[in-house]
Amino acid sequence: PAATNNLDAFWMPFTANRQFKDAPRMLVSARDMHYVAADGRKILDGTAGLWCVNAGHGRPKIVEAVQRQVAELDYAPAFQMGHPKAFEFASRLAALAPAGLDHVFFANSGSEAVDTALKIALAYHRARGEGQRVRLIGRERGYHGVGFGGISVGGMVANRRTFGLGLPGVDHLRHTHDPARNAFTRGLPEHGAELADDLERLVALHGAETIAAVIVEPLAGSTGVLLPPQGYLERLRAICDRHGILLIFDEVITGFGRLGAPFASDRFGVTPDIMTTAKGVTNGVVPMGAVLASEAIYKAFMSGPEHMIELFHGYTYSGHPLACAAGLATLDTYQEEGLLTRAARMEKQLEDAAFALQDLPHVIDIRAIGLVAAIELEPIEGEPSRRAFSAFLKAFEKGLMIRTTGDIIALSPPLIVSEAQIDEMFGTLADVLREIG
Ligand code: PMP
Repeated sequence: PAATNNLDAFWMPFTANRQFKDAPRMLVSARDMHYVAADGRKILDGTAGLWCVNAGHGRPKIVEAVQRQVAELDYAPAFQMGHPKAFEFASRLAALAPAGLDHVFFANSGSEAVDTALKIALAYHRARGEGQRVRLIGRERGYHGVGFGGISVGGMVANRRTFGLGLPGVDHLRHTHDPARNAFTRGLPEHGAELADDLERLVALHGAETIAAVIVEPLAGSTGVLLPPQGYLERLRAICDRHGILLIFDEVITGFGRLGAPFASDRFGVTPDIMTTAKGVTNGVVPMGAVLASEAIYKAFMSGPEHMIELFHGYTYSGHPLACAAGLATLDTYQEEGLLTRAARMEKQLEDAAFALQDLPHVIDIRAIGLVAAIELEPIEGEPSRRAFSAFLKAFEKGLMIRTTGDIIALSPPLIVSEAQIDEMFGTLADVLREIG
């Protein structure tokens, strides 16, 4: 079609245009577990879009809810007014979230949710007369989106350096990528507490009274599915409690059933003070981010008019009616179909299928939990990312969508994936790994 002829017009994010232009992978429709490409081929969605389409594509209930909403109330400001679905959706999210996270602030993406969470943490300390707590701590290899807040606390060094400027007063916890220490599955091992003690190093260096918050993904997704070593999150929680530091979990990827429980906090039994979500919150259908915070944090803000003014923060599209309508229908779908816990029942099959690839060429590590798996490949010398990118191209040719980051392949199918589709995904991937050089 004419509209797709000019492949220069759109500056594609994250992908050098030539990677696309050599072999355009144009997606034109989607339903349940499959995309349809412009050439008519069905592509099995092994990644739930970008980890967001947890209930699968084109689910009628969600589609109809959005259609009804746009006809009824297309937009309503969230400043000084509201609309019923924003309150209803916030209540539903608070009811689903781990106990104690009872207050919801709406943003429009994961990056915005992260910025919001960091600002809430800083405002909380100021409201309590501890305005000197301004330092933020992220983690090496953490990913928190592309806002200035997110790239500053994020642990992808290149991502920060490209722009030459980030938030001041940010440190990063060390995060080893020794596979034996990372793997949570297959009986592997502890070391979590020891690793989390790196936070004590930063406390000793700067003084606890200067530190506002620690932000981590319970499972680092975008940087390659790095599982938290046993005891890691518990120990971070304990150290934060000891020093009055807020703990923020970025559950943009792990939220809404990916790990077999509604949130990673449920799976790992550790509750943060602030939690960010996005992606699966609306099944990827309408952009949205939601930040959940504890009663104590909410109360600190609301304790005086000045504090509320200092908190001034909100987006034109906060609590957008279409996003709230999509979100409500999404939660209905997740709950009616048992999708928030389904990954727990599927994880053994996914894990076995992933580990069955371990003797194939180039495979150096496998990680799996819930409905997410990573296959790490040995990089080609001097050409990092090239091998996994070849796998991505070959998989797409064979009708499977995978995601790669560096030389790590990630699979995170919609939570409706069938047993046969899991076999199909890993069968295709095995063929791909045998064929690439
Ligand atoms: N946090 C995490 C943990 C993420 O994985 C992502 C996106 N992959 C983001 C934040 C940013 O979300 P968005 O792309 O919606 O801004």
